[in-house]
Amino acid sequence: MPTPTIRVIPSKCLGCGTCVATFPEIFELYDDGSGGMVVRIKSDADLSKLTPEDYERIKTICPSMAIEVVDEEAADAQ
Ligand code: SF4
Repeated sequence: MPTPTIRVIPSKCLGCGTCVATFPEIFELYDDGSGGMVVRIKSDADLSKLTPEDYERIKTICPSMAIEVVDEEAADAQ
């Protein structure tokens, strides 16, 4: 089974911190220079440790749908 890829869309992020509080090993808030905090995936995030249940939770955790979980095979087909 391929490992899904996680993408964050910074322009949709509200900076609420929910994803960071739930998965601090994956997400971090940073100052993007526009006066607000937005989320990015940590440079040392180890996605291989996430379970299928984690991915399902990540898919729905963001209130503004700023986080996408993309199946790598589907992404390659685009
Ligand atoms: S849950 Fe969504 S809106 Fe909140 S910090 Fe994470 S990416 Fe941003």
